[in-house]
Amino acid sequence: MAQLILLPGKDRSLARRHPWIFAAAVDKLSGRARPGDTVDVVAANGRPLAKAAWSPESKIRARVWTFDPDEIVDDAFFKRHIQAAVERRQQTPDLRGQEGLRLIHGESDGLPGLIADRYGDTIVLQLTATGPEKWRQAIIHALQRATGCARIYERSDSHVRRLEGLLPVTGWVFGAEPAERLCIVENGVRMQVDVVAGHKTGFYLDQRDNRLLTRTLAADRATLNCFCYTGGFSLQALAGGAGSVLSIDSSGPALATAIDNLALNPQLDANRAEWREADVFTELRALKSAGRHFDLIILDPPKFAPSAAHAERAARAYRDINAFAFRLLNRGGLLMSYSCSGGISSEYFQRIVADAALDAGRGARILRRLAAPPDHPVALHFSEGEYLKGLLCQVD
Ligand code: SAH
Repeated sequence: MAQLILLPGKDRSLARRHPWIFAAAVDKLSGRARPGDTVDVVAANGRPLAKAAWSPESKIRARVWTFDPDEIVDDAFFKRHIQAAVERRQQTPDLRGQEGLRLIHGESDGLPGLIADRYGDTIVLQLTATGPEKWRQAIIHALQRATGCARIYERSDSHVRRLEGLLPVTGWVFGAEPAERLCIVENGVRMQVDVVAGHKTGFYLDQRDNRLLTRTLAADRATLNCFCYTGGFSLQALAGGAGSVLSIDSSGPALATAIDNLALNPQLDANRAEWREADVFTELRALKSAGRHFDLIILDPPKFAPSAAHAERAARAYRDINAFAFRLLNRGGLLMSYSCSGGISSEYFQRIVADAALDAGRGARILRRLAAPPDHPVALHFSEGEYLKGLLCQVD
């Protein structure tokens, strides 16, 4: 096996169990390795540190499979670690009975570059790095064994694959396309999941708990849901008895699915829902000009800052929409504001929202700090895993 030799002093992050080895930490590769091959990672003094997947084209030159230099990375490795990730979910009371569930959350589950989401008996697999790409068949078998699922769809079309020199791969890799459209019930609300053409793996599972929280807050409130996608927050707000729900998204297909989703839930009062295909930045201004006000506003924008390099521009965008939201809130109104940008820390996000309230001339307090649910864990030594952060604020 080839050896990846680190520069002197560059083994510190590995000693802290951070799974990424950046190009700047590498002295040399001794021996030959193809992309995705497992390499022995050794310190400058030759001490074995870990086994990792080699990725010559990426700035993240290797991702650690195991910090035990004696553990073997083979089919059985994936069987063991995938089974363990699935069992951890089964043993988490909050997650029991959920039809939509993230089974494997990459680095934070010890499986860098590997995402697996379960929607009923369908699993969607996403490989984003050379390591899991090499072990695709072992991973598919292990998922089948660990879950007894009926089918697996591969949705490896994330743009981050390009950084690894990988082309997009999509298609059914086990079982066949289901005859009927795929639906899950999320906390009492039926939602369609389009695993082929929807965003990410088809659905934003990471907002499940926050959608449920919305339901508990929405009673009688005039609600505005910005960036509504297929209506997850909107439908939970209706389920919670919202007085009205105006939902905005720039994607026509997402809105069409949202409207379909509402029809799939006859228990909800469709007369209270209004859908608008628009750019949120423009529409918030228009709502202000029209003198509209709300008691609950949800802002769940897409990732404005994929990395720290984009943070400043993204911060302006976050500040802009949050300031407008603050202006649109009635006294005592609630703002649920999120960022899923890895490049924006939760401290920074709080500062942005605070600045936005100042811009709007509103006093506000934080009632809750919000994050992803426990099927999207954050490994203690991998702070990059904490991408989703949110604040529930109440204005004076
Ligand atoms: N809250 C949703 C997920 C939101 S994802 C849920 O719980 O499922 C972000 C959404 O923002 C996407 O649906 C995308 O179409 C939409 N979007 C991106 N930029 C936008 C813009 N400028 N104006 C309106 N919608 C936008």
